[in-house]
Amino acid sequence: MNSVKSPPHPIVGVSACLLGHQVRYDGGHKKNAFITDSLSEHLELLPICPETEIGLGIPRPTIRLMGDIEHPRLVGTVDPTMDVTDTMECYSERQVQKLGELCGYILKKDSPSCGMERVKIYNVSGTHPTRRGSGVFARILMQRHPLLPVEEEGRLNDAVLRENFINRIFVMQRWRSMHQTGLTAARMIEFHTAHKYLVMAHSQAAYQRLGRLLSDLSNRDLSAIAQVYIEELMPTLKRRVTRRRHVNVLQHIMGYLKKHIESGDKVELSESIEAYRRGETPLVVPITLLRHYFRRHHDPYMEQQIYLRPYPEKLGLRNTI
Ligand code: SF4
Repeated sequence: MNSVKSPPHPIVGVSACLLGHQVRYDGGHKKNAFITDSLSEHLELLPICPETEIGLGIPRPTIRLMGDIEHPRLVGTVDPTMDVTDTMECYSERQVQKLGELCGYILKKDSPSCGMERVKIYNVSGTHPTRRGSGVFARILMQRHPLLPVEEEGRLNDAVLRENFINRIFVMQRWRSMHQTGLTAARMIEFHTAHKYLVMAHSQAAYQRLGRLLSDLSNRDLSAIAQVYIEELMPTLKRRVTRRRHVNVLQHIMGYLKKHIESGDKVELSESIEAYRRGETPLVVPITLLRHYFRRHHDPYMEQQIYLRPYPEKLGLRNTI
């Protein structure tokens, strides 16, 4: 249906223990069934365990962040003289340089190496932890790839965050795919047009700003404009979409059907959107109905809208939001 096509399987980095690899300090794992059973079918998952990659071994002594809040050290829990900060930083800088093709990353929460946020930092006495840190590898990954969709496995239990994250992964994949086929003004406009309602659901103002950016591409540096575009797009897509915003988009899309469907069908569609607004049905219900009517009333413009099919339906992410 979408004319901006995605090649199969975006590549997503994952803390290896979440995939069931027995790489934790005690030889165990933290297998996450949603990642291994659901996501693995639709994403190419790239396992990375920074602690084993720097040679800490399995099993190994536990490590933690300690010292200055802004510049904590990564040291042994039992033996704080075992300081692996520099080794981990060097490894991380090298490793993240090789990850330019990733479309996302799933990190293990609370880890002094992989944790995205709220990782404990202990004071120099090894007591009174504050939850203000990020794992060393995670911090460098996010600094070097600030637009990369990154989440922790714990946050993926939240249906809205999960849907948002997967959505961004597939947007990033389409963006990378467009670059690979060669950046042209026509392709950038096609990308923007196809993502219209998806972006509008997050921010109408951002959609308009992005549109102005692409309004005159003749004799312009497309690479520079593409960079500005993606730097506005990805943070915009990170914003939570409320039911009210989805309703606004659904009503806009319904407007394309008004001349084509009968009054009874219009009532049914409006009621479906209202039921979604009241929280009585999930988003998948009005979306499915809209797609049903667009199958009967062919509309090339709406057929390219990513909003109606942002990622593989089998993931069922809109069944719970
Ligand atoms: S949290 Fe990261 S460093 Fe720790 S075992 Fe998992 S992958 Fe390895």
